[in-house]
Amino acid sequence: MSRIEKVNTFVLRHRLAERFRFAQWEYAERRVCLVKVTAQGGAFGWGEGYGPAGVVRAGIDFLAPLLLGRDPLEQETLWQAMFRRSFDFARQGVLLGALSALDVALWDLKGKLLDQPVSVLLGGRKRESVRAYATGLYFRECADLPAALAAEAAAHRAAGFDAVKMKVGLGVEHDHANVRAVREALGPNAALMIDANHAFSGVEAADLARRAAPHGIAWFEEPLSPDDCDGYAELRRKTAIPIAAGECEARRAGFLRLFNGRCVDIAQPDICAAGGLTETKKIADMAYTFGVELAPHCWGTGIAMAAALHLLGNLDVVPGRLEERDPWLEFDRTENSLRDELTQPAFRAQNGRVAVPDRPGLGIEVDQGALERYGEAERSKV
Ligand code: CA
Repeated sequence: MSRIEKVNTFVLRHRLAERFRFAQWEYAERRVCLVKVTAQGGAFGWGEGYGPAGVVRAGIDFLAPLLLGRDPLEQETLWQAMFRRSFDFARQGVLLGALSALDVALWDLKGKLLDQPVSVLLGGRKRESVRAYATGLYFRECADLPAALAAEAAAHRAAGFDAVKMKVGLGVEHDHANVRAVREALGPNAALMIDANHAFSGVEAADLARRAAPHGIAWFEEPLSPDDCDGYAELRRKTAIPIAAGECEARRAGFLRLFNGRCVDIAQPDICAAGGLTETKKIADMAYTFGVELAPHCWGTGIAMAAALHLLGNLDVVPGRLEERDPWLEFDRTENSLRDELTQPAFRAQNGRVAVPDRPGLGIEVDQGALERYGEAERSKV
């Protein structure tokens, strides 16, 4: 039996050439905490946590001693040990991001030890590639935002995407003008999602839904505060646009609240925040039981992307039929060298689809040069 010997964290930072904004704040840099879990004999797995990188790192430091000396193949038992240790004060939040990072790393390690891709270990590969939608169309300083967004939308379309997600949340009037410009640029056949990052009141969200609906909206993401479960259910009754949310939720218990409340048509757990692959697989099974689609939130490096691809490669899509729809991969197209340079092979969308990695573990290699280029101090928890 192999034993876990070492846990190392890496905080990486990339300063953006151009700042961009969404409804809640502005990005001037991308920063992430990675974790490497090494077993006796030298096999290792990579994970990353979603959330403020320094806090994720502190969480990993707290949880890592629970893993040392344990069998890395028992990743679910290890999940339970980490969760039991943190349950009283961190049922959701950044500490779960740390737990998620470690869980993803354990899946990567398990796959390498067993010489199998994570998607096979999750239960099997239902598909070799998934549909990807381009995430972009953020706000930025410019004289004519609708025109700038339209130009960016056209570029995504030219790059082969037939689905794009744009930001809303500036205010209903502005948002409607932006949606109209982007729809015109995309043409009628591309899917268009809108994402408010919980910026609206119920009245505003219903107003924007009513005005945006004629432009053909594939889903309305996080229209309301994640705490406003009843508001989500009420909005769902008012609009035919599918409602999506869940990137601020964690664990089965968090999603059960959304499902019991009939709050969403599409659930969006972030694997690197909601409890790792172990927990997100269970959330996916719950979503299926409630007839809710799953479209994981994905906003990180190639490690997060690979984790999402393996989950989606295995996912049983609701409701299931002969000609079933593929699940969606969130494919961030904003500037991010960490995403582009850290892992090999690079993820590429071809005709709007991204291949599920088929090598052991997550199926990616982390580039040492990128770790050094973007890394702050590495820390080891031995
Ligand atoms: Ca979002």
